[in-house]
Amino acid sequence: MAKLQDGSGIVIPSAEDIGKFRQNLLSWYQQHGRHFPWRNKSATNYQRILAEILLQRTQAETVASFFPGFVKRFPSWKKLAEATEEELQECFKPIGLWRRRAASLNRLANEMAMRRGRFPREREKLEVLPGVGQYIANAVLMFCHGESQPLLDANMARVLERYFGPRKLVDIRYDPYLQSVAREVVTGDSARLVNWAVLDLAALVCEQKTPRCSVCPVVERCRFAREQGSLAREEPGGSLQD
Ligand code: SF4
Repeated sequence: MAKLQDGSGIVIPSAEDIGKFRQNLLSWYQQHGRHFPWRNKSATNYQRILAEILLQRTQAETVASFFPGFVKRFPSWKKLAEATEEELQECFKPIGLWRRRAASLNRLANEMAMRRGRFPREREKLEVLPGVGQYIANAVLMFCHGESQPLLDANMARVLERYFGPRKLVDIRYDPYLQSVAREVVTGDSARLVNWAVLDLAALVCEQKTPRCSVCPVVERCRFAREQGSLAREEPGGSLQD
């Protein structure tokens, strides 16, 4: 796999490698991508950011079953701010982590109600909001302000590392290699779709315990598959229903 040295001295995959990965991924996503309420065209920015907050440490299917009822009851930051922390705890019991979620969302909702639902544009101002770290700041910059930003979590990291090569640091937020690769992959007008496609590939194909390389749309150039001998052993084209 050809590699280039970028200006900061970090070795990143070539534009060709990145482009091929993105192209195959997006083709696969058109057919196999998952459908969630927060991905609908009609979803508001409030719903998209709320979903990203709830998706942390929780399976998307679990959040999806809970989400429509919750946003019907609390359709805006203002309405959410009117709920007490105890009310929110009751709401979150079905999806777990209810105390932590209730406290964190209660604080953010109050802040957002004061800000009339508008997030700041600057990362340094975003990351000091209650419960907003690098991941949620990226989601805000992408969904609310139209920037291309990676939703780099443990799932996206797993796919990128298997495909392109491992990170150096334990914490993905500070790993310059992984951050650079994610930014190169998630770029341009299709940034949202690329993010969703990587996350769906992680959930449906490049699973944590047993990656299903035989049905993977990016197996041809995947470093992990090559090292494991998956390319020689398996016949591509198997069904996702296997
Ligand atoms: Fe993951 Fe295998 Fe696909 Fe590589 S080929 S991205 S390891 S499922």
